[in-house]
This record gives sequence, structure tokens and C-alpha cells, in this order.
Amino acid sequence: MRVSYLELVRRKEALRERVRRLLGPEGYKRAKEDPHSRRRPRPCGLTIHTAVGCPNKCTYCYIQDMGFSFTQAKPYHLKGEELVLALLENRHFLPGIEGTYLAFGSISDPFLREAKPRTLEYMERISRYLGNPVQFATKAYISEELARRLSNMKLILSPLITVVTIHKWRELEPSAPDPEKRLETIRNLRREGLYPFLFLRPLLPGINEDEIEEIIEYSKRSGAVGVVVGGFRVSHLILERLRKMGFDIEPILRRIKKRRLLGKEQVSLGLRDMKMQVLNIAKEKGLKAVLTACCAMTNVLNMMGKELPCASLCFLGKMCTGDKYCGNNCALKLPEVSEEDVKAAIEAELRVRVIDFKVDGRIIASVRRWNGYSSFRDGIRLLSSLYRRRVEILVE
Ligand code: SF4
Ligand code: SF4
Repeated sequence: MRVSYLELVRRKEALRERVRRLLGPEGYKRAKEDPHSRRRPRPCGLTIHTAVGCPNKCTYCYIQDMGFSFTQAKPYHLKGEELVLALLENRHFLPGIEGTYLAFGSISDPFLREAKPRTLEYMERISRYLGNPVQFATKAYISEELARRLSNMKLILSPLITVVTIHKWRELEPSAPDPEKRLETIRNLRREGLYPFLFLRPLLPGINEDEIEEIIEYSKRSGAVGVVVGGFRVSHLILERLRKMGFDIEPILRRIKKRRLLGKEQVSLGLRDMKMQVLNIAKEKGLKAVLTACCAMTNVLNMMGKELPCASLCFLGKMCTGDKYCGNNCALKLPEVSEEDVKAAIEAELRVRVIDFKVDGRIIASVRRWNGYSSFRDGIRLLSSLYRRRVEILVE
């Protein structure tokens, strides 16, 4: 594929004008003041909130530590076009299939009853105006009819269906639909031509290790095309909840250096061995297996005919599961770019004058600042994600 910064920026400008005119000053103000207009993308993509809070009350969930409610989900206040405008106002966002990945489902479940109308509204508007790849993570039941509606949206859509236990869901996910319903969700999505991945996150040492093979087997039989294996972040509150539910938390504590976590502190567990176990089981069963959500998104993008590597450049680092487990060969799919476009993009995003530069598997540029000091971090991230190449800047 070919990617062009100048083309996307022109499209972004034109769309921004169009949606701004449509919404008028009130709508513009709401969009401009909303955090979606400033938020930086995370490795999985730019997170889209369709509700705030989640009554599923998963024992391992960290949203309470972040200050969000476990008792109710409030639909997000922006209307569909306002969300689109907020994204177009965001300097970290580029529209289009080759643009920023969008991720639904970080502080709520996007298909909860309360969140679903907003989720569908946002997805429909993203499809109409922007066309960015969209991923969602859910534990909700998606009926055949809803799966058809999603499939008809003309979006590159990557569904992640979370199943972390078949037998202990009452203790671990007391208010979420039971895993059998989620497997049915996988079936319905696949039947409608979508490419669902099993989202096996979190891995809970001593709690769900013994169920991994069964979960993967059932997911495969239901139609999952792959597995995303995730880690686990614990806090004091999460450990307390697990303990109160009767789980032995010693195997978890053994994997963190501290015995006591204070306040809202969160710690990621070292889970390399468990992740390798999942990758190997998934491979045995003929499923793709990846370590990041963006890699699932990238696989779907490619399955739907858009040959592009991972936008987070996972293929350049340790997160790539390679030929053995993924097989997407991202390193061989670098998009075509023009030198003129790269030079213009560096000058516009980093506010520098380019003195010399080279484009091959990497982009290396010598630059001179013209606007005093400004951090290059955000601009480099945006450009490396668009061009799918490492961008190195040398200041003269
Ligand atoms: S469904 Fe997700 S957001 Fe909701 S409680 Fe469970 S882990 Fe947290
Ligand atoms: S080849 Fe590597 S970087 Fe590309 S999608 Fe697969 S795991 Fe991710």
C-alpha cells in the first residue's frame, strides 16, 4: 500500500471543516473541550469511551482504582458527530484505513446495555466520516442480528472477545454474561464474516492456568481466528477482592517483588512462561497467537485485504510473535512512501527544517530547529505509526 501524510492531513482538514459546519458553535465547543480531542494513542490505539464505569464488577479489573464506578455505566455524553469532530481536532490522530487505530472498551464494556447505542452510533459515524480501523473488546453477548449490523458497517473491525475462565466466572466476573454466551458471540461474529480473536487477558497465576487449554479449544471450535494473550496488572484492591473470593493469591504474590501494594499503585506481573504456554497451545490448535491487541487489529486489516504492518511497529521489537505464532510477516509489508511526503511531514510535525534525510526501512533525518525548543516525541510517534518505520531525528 502507499501512504501519504499530505493526503491524510488534507482529508483531515476538509472533514474537520465539514463536520464543524454541520455541528455549529455549540457542538464544536463540546468536541473541542472533550478529552478525545487531546488524548494520545496507547499502543492498542486511541481509546474511545462510549460509557463511563462498568457494573460487570470483574474481580481482576482496575477501573475502580482509576476512579470509575463498579455500580453503573453512564453513556458517554458526546453525540456521534461530536466524537468525530473531537478526533479531527486531536493532533495525535490521522483519519483513514492507514491512520490511527481506534480501540473501544477500556473503561467500560462497549456492548453493555447502557453503552451499546453510543457504541453503534460512534462506529457508524467513524465508518461514514473517517474509515479508521476499529477494535473492540467485550464480554457481552452479541446476537446474530447485532453481528450482522456490525458486519454491514463497512469498517475494518477487529472484535476481541474476552474469556479467561469457563468454570470460575461467577467468582471472577460476577455480573458479566457467562462464557458460553461469549463463545456464541464468537460464533455469530464469524458467521457474519468478521474475524474475532479470543482475548485471553488477564492471565491469573494459580487461578486460570489450568483452564487455558479448554478456553482455547472452545474458542477455536466457535470460530475464533486467533488469540491475544494479555498480562495482568494488580493493585491492593484487586488482590483483596481475589482473596475475599477465596482464591489463593500466593502464586500472584510470588511474581511481584513487593508483598504489599499501597493505595492505587498498580504492578505488572512477569508472565513470560504463562504467555509462552498460551502461544504454544494456540499454535497446536491452529490459531494465530499475538501478544498485543494492535497485532490482532493488524491481522484483521490484512485479512480484509489491506496490506499494512502493525501501526505500533511491534515487528521491530520483542512483542512480535513472528512466523511461528502469527505469520503476518509485517516486516515485508512496509508501505510505499514518497521522499517529498516524508520531508514535508517531518517539517510540519516537528517544526524543523530538514537538512538531509534518507528513507528505506527506517527514516533518518538531520534537522535544524526553527521554532525554539519543542519535544519531538509526539510527532515522531505519529509519523512512525503512519509510515510504519522507525523515525530517527538528528538535530544539527
Ligand atoms: S467488563 Fe471490563 S471494564 Fe467491566 S468490570 Fe470487567 S474488566 Fe472491568
Ligand atoms: S507479524 Fe509480528 S508485528 Fe506483525 S501482526 Fe504479527 S506479531 Fe504483530
